[in-house]
Amino acid sequence: MRRSAVWHPFTQHGLDAPATAISGGDGAWLETANGTRILDAISSWWVITHGHRHPAIVAAVRDQLDKLDQVIFAGFTHEPAERLAEKLIERAPAGLTHVFYSDSGSTSVEVALKMALGYWRNIGAARTRIAALEHGYHGDTIGTMSAGSRGVFNAAYAPLLFDVVRIPFPFAGQEQATFDALDAAGRNGDLAAFIAEPLIAGAGGMLMYSPAALAEMKRICDRHGALFIADEVMTGWGRTGTLFACEQAAVAPDILCTAKGLTGGSLPLAATLASERIFDAHVSTDRARTLFHSSSFTANPVCCAAALANLGIWDTEPVADRVRKLGEMQEAALRALTDPRFENPRRLGTITAVDLKVADEGYLAAVGLKLRAHSLSHGVLLRPLGNTIYVMPPYGITEAELALIYDAIRSAPDAVA
Ligand SMILES: *Cc1c(COP(=O)(O)O)cnc(C)c1O
Repeated sequence: MRRSAVWHPFTQHGLDAPATAISGGDGAWLETANGTRILDAISSWWVITHGHRHPAIVAAVRDQLDKLDQVIFAGFTHEPAERLAEKLIERAPAGLTHVFYSDSGSTSVEVALKMALGYWRNIGAARTRIAALEHGYHGDTIGTMSAGSRGVFNAAYAPLLFDVVRIPFPFAGQEQATFDALDAAGRNGDLAAFIAEPLIAGAGGMLMYSPAALAEMKRICDRHGALFIADEVMTGWGRTGTLFACEQAAVAPDILCTAKGLTGGSLPLAATLASERIFDAHVSTDRARTLFHSSSFTANPVCCAAALANLGIWDTEPVADRVRKLGEMQEAALRALTDPRFENPRRLGTITAVDLKVADEGYLAAVGLKLRAHSLSHGVLLRPLGNTIYVMPPYGITEAELALIYDAIRSAPDAVA
């Protein structure tokens, strides 16, 4: 076969197995070009919520393509974007009144940071510092890498990254250190915003923390007048058991980022939701106060139609029930992993994770690769984060399908030993 011309994301072409060619998707399954079925245990990188090719989303996309494919979104608007914005505001935590569209989780966070800086500048306050949680991940653009935790993934780009105030992660029992650090950052008076993934740091290793800690971090931000940005790019759309994770802490963020599951995972679309005062601070007769951001495909009508179909599915199908049932099945499957080589079993909503004990930390990358190959040989798509194995399936997955995933996990320690 001809060598591929494609340069894949987060792929070491000198080590990783050649990419598996996928030609179909249905429910929780992917199908390879030669007809092998693979169970999508990570929702195709955390995006697919209702399963692949949900008929309502497919129909909405077809329908929209027959009407309007794309239009400039400055000076023009369209019904799918208008309706979607209204519906997002209805469903999102209270106080968010305006929706800015973009096309990926990273851009939704970039926009959030720009909104925050623009807000303080426009009201004439000298606040430019950003605080962020350790182990945080907010995307792979320069700004979002700056807010994310530092490591091998961004070391080469460090000269381009801006400084943020790093707040210790609120691990259970260690929350006070988090609160103290955030309080100290707030007392400086220059804190523009604090950004966090609510309740779970995804790419950071599926690290979980309590709703009480989230609520307290928000209170500290409020006390010091700093904006709270909720990065719900992964946590949104039911993943953590509620539509948005913030709901579990009754937290109303000043800015909320959503992407991944916004279209049910079918098409790229993101939104940054902002409170009234943030929007108002950008409304002026002075053009210099504009939110200077756009991407070519802002609010693409087909993507908006897919997102509206996703919301329709939440309205008309028992999605909340599916989420609850999946959480219960996940809990039972996790508890049945009794091999002592699995550590720190944990679950939040539909997501489970365990850490595989490894003797040599430097061996992590090799273990990750072996785990991936092992699960794929069992017909299951898993993509461990180092030695952390996690399961984040689409909601419609059956108990029998879930059992296949855990069979692959159960046999993993021996396979990679
Ligand atoms: C995936 C992710 C992002 C980045 O989203 P992309 O669509 O990949 O750019 C940002 N924040 C969080 C919490 C994520 O999980």
